[in-house]
Amino acid sequence: MTPSPSAAPEPGPPHPEIVVDLAAVRHNVGVLRAQVAPAALMVVVKADGYGHGMLEVARAARGAGADWLGVATLEEAAALRAAGDRGRLLTWLTVPADDHAGAVAADVDVTVYDLDQLAAVSAAVSRAGRPARLQLKVDTGLSRGGSTAAAWPALVAAARAGERDGSWRVTGVWSHLACSDEPDHPANAAQEAAFREAVALAEAAGLRPEVRHLANSAGALLRPSARFDLVRCGLAAYGLDPAPGHTPDLGLRPAMTVRSPLALVKQVPAGAGVSYGHRWVAPAATTLGLVPVGYGDGVPRHASDRAEVAVAGHRVPVRGTVCMDQLVVDLGAPAGAPGARAGDEAVLIGPAPAPSAQDWAEACGTISYEIVTRLGGRLHRRHTGAVPEADPAPTVVPVLEPQETA
Ligand SMILES: *Cc1c(COP(=O)(O)O)cnc(C)c1O
Repeated sequence: MTPSPSAAPEPGPPHPEIVVDLAAVRHNVGVLRAQVAPAALMVVVKADGYGHGMLEVARAARGAGADWLGVATLEEAAALRAAGDRGRLLTWLTVPADDHAGAVAADVDVTVYDLDQLAAVSAAVSRAGRPARLQLKVDTGLSRGGSTAAAWPALVAAARAGERDGSWRVTGVWSHLACSDEPDHPANAAQEAAFREAVALAEAAGLRPEVRHLANSAGALLRPSARFDLVRCGLAAYGLDPAPGHTPDLGLRPAMTVRSPLALVKQVPAGAGVSYGHRWVAPAATTLGLVPVGYGDGVPRHASDRAEVAVAGHRVPVRGTVCMDQLVVDLGAPAGAPGARAGDEAVLIGPAPAPSAQDWAEACGTISYEIVTRLGGRLHRRHTGAVPEADPAPTVVPVLEPQETA
């Protein structure tokens, strides 16, 4: 007789790892597309795909019908193009030393906030030898990037002049919400109204952008009036909730699992102080498990004595201080996993009963964005659920000659 699958626990992973399920990403992209239609969907893959792997997520998102990809930097855009991505792609964060010419040559939409950045794109257009695809960002109340309302008419006029002389086409006008995860916050309506005004002003100046866009994940899901032509979804595409307590259940699936073998299991007596500073002292004899993952791998030290992991289907608490390379869990805690042995699996983030990224965020006083984006370090990362046929075929992207510098 073969033992039933539940008779013996699955062997743990050979090393601490992040497993990213690309089938979940495709599922989420499909759900989001259906939810926001007829608006188009941009999947935001900046910061290494929020820790999930930019290139792998980008391919999965394209395969599931993402109309656009979005990244912060020109470097991120160049990496996508070098990997063969050819679809619509927007960037929005540059510094004065950046050279936009490669992005212009590679058909990347670049965003400008002011006249200095517009001049930088103009210089890049000369070097690239082709017109740019240019988007203008207006600050409607976040007070981060983007043109102030006061500077907007001059920026729009200059952008229109450059369009007339063939330097670029203004393909988009956009902005970003400050409080989209609080749907009742008055800033949402105020920003949307300011955005409509800025768009009207751009159109009155003769601009005819292909896309007007304002909403991130929470805005896209909670404020239909903010969808315009396109929404920019990051977090929701990874299956995480951008506005806990507000988002309707759409069946999004978290793509990331983080798991590790236990490096050691041992008994300690009552009174044993655990980890640096003895922040936790065992009130009774117990069994401790050593998880070889720490803040050097992106587990926040703020999780010390607060977060939980799952061992053998039980939630067990992190005890004491999270160290650079390791953390300690209490396997003997009530309803713990006292039979655990070295090599058994500890799931830091995963499907229930394991904690979610949101659980870690709440334990650490942060948001799930930060939890998943910071995880990395020495964790091995692998991807499951890839569909090779869905990958866009690699194509050659124009390469510019390096610039002569004085
Ligand atoms: C990161 C980012 C997004 C994605 O936000 P989510 O809340 O993850 O959907 C959208 N737009 C801009 C400008 C961003 O920087």
